[in-house]
Amino acid sequence: MEPVLTLKHIGFRYELAWVLRSIDIQVHAGEILGILGPNGSGKSTLLNIMDGVLTPQEGEVRLNGHNLHDLNRSAIAKKVAMVSQENHFRFSFSTLEVVLMGRFPHLGRLQFEGKKDLDIARDALSATHAEDLAQRSIHELSGGERQRVLLARALAQEPLVILLDEPTSFLDLKFKREIFRLIAALSEERGVSVVVVSHDIDLLSQYCRHLVMLKQGSIFAEGKPEEVITTSNIETVYECPVMVDQNPVSGKPRINVV
Ligand code: ADP
Ligand code: MG
Repeated sequence: MEPVLTLKHIGFRYELAWVLRSIDIQVHAGEILGILGPNGSGKSTLLNIMDGVLTPQEGEVRLNGHNLHDLNRSAIAKKVAMVSQENHFRFSFSTLEVVLMGRFPHLGRLQFEGKKDLDIARDALSATHAEDLAQRSIHELSGGERQRVLLARALAQEPLVILLDEPTSFLDLKFKREIFRLIAALSEERGVSVVVVSHDIDLLSQYCRHLVMLKQGSIFAEGKPEEVITTSNIETVYECPVMVDQNPVSGKPRINVV
């Protein structure tokens, strides 16, 4: 089956220096693709290219058979939802209002949300176990609650692909696990593809079938967790001594900082 999202030989620069070079990535239907790499290695830039917010100077992005370049903002937003790291709300929207924003790409000009949109928003809140938060102000939510609501907004978009930029930073262990379990359930039950950027390498290891490891804007390693998360790869890319062994429960690679 053709991949949902294909990056072909992408090169990108903000200014003079190339930030991404020769990037080839395929995202398949229902897959959870993990992206890892040190700070500044180009992960957020890569997600913004997948979302069409940034246009690469080299290469091509294909979304569901179309060149991303030929699609307008709302056509892209019907297929790709982004949960970025910057999500400041200037007004004290209710959680339900925030999730309804995910419906904008599906509405006509000057059209208000209807019952169907409300149903979809409520369903999304329930899928992320956030239905009790519907009337709360987005400003008063805890980090874990807020991430669940932003995930619900992405779901309400009914996309083929959800892009998550470090969704578990600032969350404690229980909520980190919960977010990854939610992602796994969404991909399994709804067939949505997920691209997740994270520094929680042990969770990526457990939940992703395929990983892409970036180093200074290039793909340093990719493949199954056991192919990518090796002592030598981690030490080279993160410049930090580690010992990778196997998680005794999942059998997946696990990082021990030494
Ligand atoms: P990561 O998400 O892996 O930390 P980024 O994609 O944010 O990496 O950044 C990759 C590189 O691009 C860094 O060197 C960063 O300084 C640079 N960069 C990011 N955003 C901009 C921008 N808006 N203008 C110029 N350079 C940028
Ligand atoms: Mg980033």
